[in-house]
Amino acid sequence: MRVLVAGGAGFIGSHLVDRLLRRTDLDDLTVVDNFWTGRRANLHHIADPRVRIIESDVERLADLGQFDEIYHLASPASPPWYMAEPIRTIRANVLGALRLLDALRPGGLFGFTSTSEVYGDPHVTPQPESYRGSVDCTGPRSSYDESKRCVEAMLFEARRVNRVRIKVVRLFNVFGPRTRPDDGRAVSNFITQGLRKQPITIYGDGLQTRSWGYVDDIVDGLARFFWLQPSEYPGPLNMGNDREISVIDVARYVQRSFPDSAIVHLPPAPQDPTNRRPDLTLAYRTLPGWSCAVPYEVGVDRAIAWFRANEHSFIADADG
Ligand code: NAD
Ligand code: UDP
Repeated sequence: MRVLVAGGAGFIGSHLVDRLLRRTDLDDLTVVDNFWTGRRANLHHIADPRVRIIESDVERLADLGQFDEIYHLASPASPPWYMAEPIRTIRANVLGALRLLDALRPGGLFGFTSTSEVYGDPHVTPQPESYRGSVDCTGPRSSYDESKRCVEAMLFEARRVNRVRIKVVRLFNVFGPRTRPDDGRAVSNFITQGLRKQPITIYGDGLQTRSWGYVDDIVDGLARFFWLQPSEYPGPLNMGNDREISVIDVARYVQRSFPDSAIVHLPPAPQDPTNRRPDLTLAYRTLPGWSCAVPYEVGVDRAIAWFRANEHSFIADADG
């Protein structure tokens, strides 16, 4: 069993790698990453002879033979990072998917982490997979959400025309250990700001909502969907926490651990979605027994503990 994870040095990818290494049927695991938004430190703990790490842009990956399973996570997920390099983001997602499809053996499985961003600024709540979204294809977030939509289209056509086995998951906001301190997303920003005794920055009034899934629960869902459950259901499958919480409430919760940090309001992020909440009917039917079991507050406390424990490595580690 040869498995490839593109983006395996990233936040979610490195947890997925850990989870894959628990598999007894795994012969070798190839991690492909260019360390753009990922960190070498996310893989430092791995000493498993089945693993090899290839530093490469996924879209320019050399011929490494064919793989039985390929998981394509190679893309920044944080708005400031993908907005800073939109063309690179499109290349990673779209050209990366094309390159990886060539490396899949006939009958192999292609897993893809799409995003709730395909729903844009949604007009229905919660969002079922059948909702087609409210997305601006020339807007500031388009490099990310449109490239995810394009890869979804490509994979479903590859399935229809070439019978490629695919599993497409739409992740809602994920948080937890191994997020970069300079990642730029809400939970990691608030914690980093708290640790540095800086103001906690809210973009806009903070009444916009998201559904925040703790990474262990999300990776458990990915493992069940990608390889543990026998179902060949291709997705798209929503995955996230169905508890919807406003950004200001997140900031207030984090602030309880950092009373020296005041909450300040900055201008809203461009075209910031006003709300996001997954309809998980399909996920619960497809993955019996799975849910986001870690309460949001517990997850945030764990993330704070991890950031505190690793603060020194962010300064020492040139990547971080
Ligand atoms: P991340 O930025 O931590 O990880 C992405 C990884 O991909 C990094 O290690 C980065 O260096 C690597 N990468 C980027 N471009 C590459 C390229 N061209 N070639 C090789 N490697 C490349 O992000 P994450 O939060 O771990 O997200 C992982 C996946 O999940 C992404 O596809 C993202 O779109 C998706 N997703 C994440 C979230 C979330 O809330 N974190 C939500 C929805 C979807
Ligand atoms: N956000 C914020 N302050 C920050 C970072 C993010 O108010 O320092 C807001 C952001 O505008 C959005 C929400 O928090 O409304 C979630 O942002 P994040 O970047 O975590 O994920 P997104 O859902 O935008 O991809």
